[in-house]
Amino acid sequence: AKKTGKSTYRHYEPQMSDKMENDYILVSHLRKAYENKELSLNFQPQIDSNTHKIVGFEALLRWHSPELGTVSPLKIIPLAESSGLILPIGQCILEQAIRFTLDMLDHMEEPFLVSVNISVIQLLEASFVDDLIETLASFELEPSYLQLEITESILIESYDIILGKLKKLRAHGISLSLDDFGTGYSSLSYLQQLPLTELKIDKKFIDEITQPNTDYVLINSIIMLAQALNLNVVAEGVEKEFQAEYLEAKGCHVIQGYYYGKPMTEKEIILYCQDFSLD
Ligand code: C2E
Ligand code: CA
Ligand code: CA
Ligand code: CA
Repeated sequence: AKKTGKSTYRHYEPQMSDKMENDYILVSHLRKAYENKELSLNFQPQIDSNTHKIVGFEALLRWHSPELGTVSPLKIIPLAESSGLILPIGQCILEQAIRFTLDMLDHMEEPFLVSVNISVIQLLEASFVDDLIETLASFELEPSYLQLEITESILIESYDIILGKLKKLRAHGISLSLDDFGTGYSSLSYLQQLPLTELKIDKKFIDEITQPNTDYVLINSIIMLAQALNLNVVAEGVEKEFQAEYLEAKGCHVIQGYYYGKPMTEKEIILYCQDFSLD
């Protein structure tokens, strides 16, 4: 390693690829962004198309770097995971989501859920569950407002430990959504073992709904499966009215997607909620 700036080391090992070099630079930017509080959340509304009410919001990470511009969470999260930054960043995300929830209590008449994406590395951290319960208590937020979104990939590692933690979270009143359903290592047997409350149909399946008056067997069976297991079912990535109508007709009432609203800042969400209740 060769010293360049004041405190930054740049590596020049010949075997180091451009990608590794780029990732290394990005991680140091990310660390700085975390310290400078440049990481924020946007929130995307989830609508019950049946009752026409807002039933929840998904928190989505945003990073507008002065040097790099906007960096996608699809890039940030893997880097945060491989560098260990996911633990402090994940805690910061949870706290921001909790603050948002507390603010929204003043703007919502009915109960709602705020969903936060969780990385397997956070869940594997020994104190994750206790820390989260303590954080909720310190903000005086009822755990029933919080939902954690996990993906099927979470289940390949230390299944028994993960299962135990999910049960503890659920016992504390935190909801659990299985995100990106149908894209991962689906084994249907775990669906019954996990203490889930929600199943999220991945956008990949919604994209298949390309025209009205057609039957989409795969989606129909995912909705029926969720209903048989007594799980809420949410469709994500819904962009078109006929997609929302199709899902509604098949019994999937909760819709998330550009059709109802893009991810927004808290300020925009508050305006959105006011407009929405007038419609
Ligand atoms: P995801 O959890 O599957 O989130 C849904 C993604 O779809 C979001 O992308 C959202 O902006 C986008 N989306 C929602 N509705 C539509 C639509 O109608 N059309 C289209 N084309 N896209 C739609 P985003 O915000 O770029 O996030 C990408 C992924 O990054 C997320 O996928 C999630 O896996 C990860 N991520 C985002 N925020 C966090 C976070 O706070 N923590 C963790 N661990 N992962 C996060
Ligand atoms: Ca998600
Ligand atoms: Ca998803
Ligand atoms: Ca996805």
